[in-house]
Amino acid sequence: MYIDTHVHLNDAQFDADRGDVLAACRTAGIDRLIEIADAPEEWDKAVALSRARPFVRCSLGLHPYYADRWSQELGERLGRRAELPEVVAAGEIGLDYVKGKTERAEQKRALEGMLAAAWEAELPVVIHCRGAYDDLLALLESFYKGKAPAGRFHGVLHCFSGRTEDALRGRELGFALGVDGPVTYPKNDALRQALAAAGLDALVLETDSPYLPPQSARGKRNDSRGLHEIALGLAGALKTSVDLVAQQTTRNALDLYRMDAGSRLPPG
Ligand SMILES: [Zn+2]
Ligand SMILES: [Zn+2]
Repeated sequence: MYIDTHVHLNDAQFDADRGDVLAACRTAGIDRLIEIADAPEEWDKAVALSRARPFVRCSLGLHPYYADRWSQELGERLGRRAELPEVVAAGEIGLDYVKGKTERAEQKRALEGMLAAAWEAELPVVIHCRGAYDDLLALLESFYKGKAPAGRFHGVLHCFSGRTEDALRGRELGFALGVDGPVTYPKNDALRQALAAAGLDALVLETDSPYLPPQSARGKRNDSRGLHEIALGLAGALKTSVDLVAQQTTRNALDLYRMDAGSRLPPG
């Protein structure tokens, strides 16, 4: 049993067969999925997807690509949506200095605004970071100073791609690290070392589908069935069994999104 902590099922790449893909993922042992809405116009679609399928929950965010769209009003809207049972987190939000086109100062302002709104709404956060770990960690350290997480984690550094020191700093701050397809790429020894240093109790699995397919599916559309290969890659990096990886990352994911283990949900 796995939890895919980060998917974009509402992406247009799934328009032709979304229902079939979801059914196949459930059959393949994916117990729950967290749909990530990365722009405000996606929020209600993510809630609707979760409402139709109780094994999907969602997270509402503002990707750093769209940082120029931050407003206080958006933060208030997040607060209202946080009341819905389908909404388990805020994000993705963050800093992207590689592909982001908005000014760095604007990205930081949007991130701080969304962090404050999420804190107010008592939601954990899903953080996106590319090429910006120094600035990101400094900002998070300052924001969370003196704030104890409501559960085990303040949130997750999704698709973690930093150095070992970033992994340790993130963990120390109360963040889980998201592990995806790149852990299976032959060249990524430094990433595997960083994840091993952070340790299994700080890691969650994610596919970021339809993006980031694992090694055996590179160049193809990704979905949550790729999670097992990611778990195998991680087990190799940690020199442990895939069963233990599945078990512990599932527990971490439930803690991250403050979800009840509950009983297994019916397929569908
Ligand atoms: Zn991302
Ligand atoms: Zn994403």
